[in-house]
Amino acid sequence: MALTGIAIFKMLPKTNCKECGFPTCLAFAMALASGKAELAACPYVSEEAKEKLSAASAPPIRPVKIDMKDAQITTGGETVFFRHEKTFFNPTILAGTLNSDLSDADIDAKLSAFMKMQFERVGFNLRPQMFVVKDVNGDAAKFAAVVKAIVDKSDAAIVLMSDKVEVLKAGAEAAKERKPVLYAATAANADAVGGLAKEMGLPVVAKADGYDALAELTTKLTGMGLQDIILDSGARTIKQVLQDNIAIRRAPLLAQFKPFGFPTINLPCEMTDDPMKEALYASICIAKYGGIVVLKDLDPTYIFPLLLQRLNIYTDPQRPMIVTPGIYPLNNPDENSIIAITTNFALTYFIVTGEIEGSKVPTWLLIKDTEGLSVMTAWAAGKFSGDDVGMFVKKCGIADKAKTRSLIIPGYAAAISGDLEEELPDWKILIGPREAAHIPAFFKAQ
Ligand code: SF4
Repeated sequence: MALTGIAIFKMLPKTNCKECGFPTCLAFAMALASGKAELAACPYVSEEAKEKLSAASAPPIRPVKIDMKDAQITTGGETVFFRHEKTFFNPTILAGTLNSDLSDADIDAKLSAFMKMQFERVGFNLRPQMFVVKDVNGDAAKFAAVVKAIVDKSDAAIVLMSDKVEVLKAGAEAAKERKPVLYAATAANADAVGGLAKEMGLPVVAKADGYDALAELTTKLTGMGLQDIILDSGARTIKQVLQDNIAIRRAPLLAQFKPFGFPTINLPCEMTDDPMKEALYASICIAKYGGIVVLKDLDPTYIFPLLLQRLNIYTDPQRPMIVTPGIYPLNNPDENSIIAITTNFALTYFIVTGEIEGSKVPTWLLIKDTEGLSVMTAWAAGKFSGDDVGMFVKKCGIADKAKTRSLIIPGYAAAISGDLEEELPDWKILIGPREAAHIPAFFKAQ
């Protein structure tokens, strides 16, 4: 059960030394209670208090860290059932599958495609991050060779999938420095697979059909000293996966049921042979609590929309997505090109730039900081006023890049044109269209 700020405060040193970055121990306690501070920031907490507070402040769903080549990704660690309650923290990890009987040429092609499959969006690099190596013939040497190829030729995180402990061990040895996830410990092999995970310090998937069996298995694994556990409920229909994901998320959050306090892995790759259905199932898993979602193939046609869906779900709903204010050259503008301005709300930016790029009209697009508000909202909130916009135009440096002295403002901000003309007496203010779809025709007419 989470502790209140006051309960935490009682366990702190109460010296108000400020070393944690907060003005008082009480302020630190409040920040700790709301998840905005780390206990480690206070160097003076007693060991006894540390033990109590760490347990109380641990997220109900364990964050499991998984290594990529030069980075760590985390699954789990979520604290709420719905994203509007707070936010979801650790985006679903998208994985592709490599069967252990693939030819070297096929493996190289898939790894090369994986490394290239990266998309820039709203300042984020979106990409799949994991491969599941699937043992299809029990050949430990071949399995290890595929794992080694991933280690050598990609930065992917790795899940080793086999029902043979010796095959898992060969793969784990081949990817020792990448700390692969073992798939899977079951009731039948929990001692052997759990033992291997413990010996090598690896995360492990617990797989069991039915909630009782799964809870029993995770209790056994935690009893062996394992903490980094990922849950597979064994479901292979989307209806059952959805039901299980919800039950597994609900149990630790609402009932403090510790055996389910771990992230999940879902395998749409084993639910259908139809790629479109597989992508659809993956999107359901992303929307409803899938920690790792495994697809057969990493086809950009499906991966890109899934990454966008994931981005939308895992952004903080209390913070608008923004782009950096500044001058954006579109379609190779020169000193005679037109100049337009809009706000730094990411959605506005992408729609407006999309239309301008489509118009092929060389343009200097000025992006003004409105704290991520769209045009009408920013104008209503006084963050896109004539004075403000005028000041930004003077200071942003556009006068050094372009001789043009006419500025296109969004149609929805037409009301600022008078103030803007006063603020920028040498400029001609043009009122652009209200709808982005009308931008190409308007810009071409200038
Ligand atoms: Fe209090 Fe510890 Fe912060 Fe000092 S560092 S103010 S003792 S919480």
